Amino acid sequence: MVKITIMGASGTIGKNVAFTLAKEDQIHEIVMFSRPTSNDRVKGEIRDMYDALSADNIDVILTPSCEYEDLKDSAIVLITSGTPRKEGMNRLDLAIPNAKIVEEYSKNIAKYAPDSIILIVTNPVDVMTSIALDASGFDKHRVIGLGNHLDSLRLKTILSKFFQINSGEIHTRVIGEHGDHMVPLLSSTTIGGIPLKYYVESTQLDVPALVNEVRTAGNKIISKKGATEYGPSYAISNLIATIVNDSRKVLTVSTYLEGEVEGVYDVSLGVPVILCKRGIKDIIPVRMEDDERMEFFEAARTVKKCTYKVKDTLKEEE
Ligand code: NAP
Repeated sequence: MVKITIMGASGTIGKNVAFTLAKEDQIHEIVMFSRPTSNDRVKGEIRDMYDALSADNIDVILTPSCEYEDLKDSAIVLITSGTPRKEGMNRLDLAIPNAKIVEEYSKNIAKYAPDSIILIVTNPVDVMTSIALDASGFDKHRVIGLGNHLDSLRLKTILSKFFQINSGEIHTRVIGEHGDHMVPLLSSTTIGGIPLKYYVESTQLDVPALVNEVRTAGNKIISKKGATEYGPSYAISNLIATIVNDSRKVLTVSTYLEGEVEGVYDVSLGVPVILCKRGIKDIIPVRMEDDERMEFFEAARTVKKCTYKVKDTLKEEE
């Protein structure tokens, strides 16, 4: 019997994740937690989802809630609450207001679901991962941020369209910040098992344009339709399914680093990890080319600076 909770359930990501997970029919109960002002909205979403799910005979329990007690026994608690980015806004602009929400919710998760895994989606996600880690007091393998897995899916799509081959043949990864300082790891990218640099048509690839396309992918979606929804929701459901099924897949998530990758420490960043039902089983100390390593260090500097700024502000306002 697997139970998970989604916080910020009336939002675009919250409700889409709930429906995506419900359709997969691997979870027994999904608690859709919201602020009291959104409770009616959530109840409406649930009625609508039940109608759709009955077409596939799926009997998942969807529970609307505004009470922290309902988090009890959740294997995973997902935090999607926060102000989303508007067009042209940097993810870091959202840091302080969103950190206050993440801090309060993480403290309550620790109190009401002390054995859970916290999965953070709220942006800027790398900073929020550190805030949730501190506020919950959980071991770092149980506090995970989604960001670069979504960026990696975007890079996979771009490569698959460029080479016109099935996306399943492409293994690639974006690490670093989920933001301007993301690092597409082309040195670890393979196509049909062949390293990208040896792949026959790779000379035709305009690498700077490719990198720019991945970095701006989220902004382009937001400028056209106001928000991202299907991409993040499926990326989140990948992470949750991997954890729930103890699949031990290598996925790129934000985690607090203590020197495991290129000696970077005291900052949460996206790196490849093995995910299991306990959360992060191992961080993979991936090798990089010199230019990738420099960009990874720059991501660490930027995110660490912002994390300290946010932590100092939260302390001052205590
Ligand atoms: P949204 O539709 O505006 O939903 C955000 C939800 O946050 C609201 O529905 C509300 O939920 C809750 N909320 C808003 N203000 C709040 C406050 N002051 N206190 C407590 N809860 C509050 O936004 P979205 O598109 O779902 O995006 C949610 C977050 O995910 C944003 O920070 C966005 O930037 C981030 N995001 C991250 C990724 C990633 O890859 N990491 C991808 C996409 C989006 P309730 O009223 O139901 O509680």
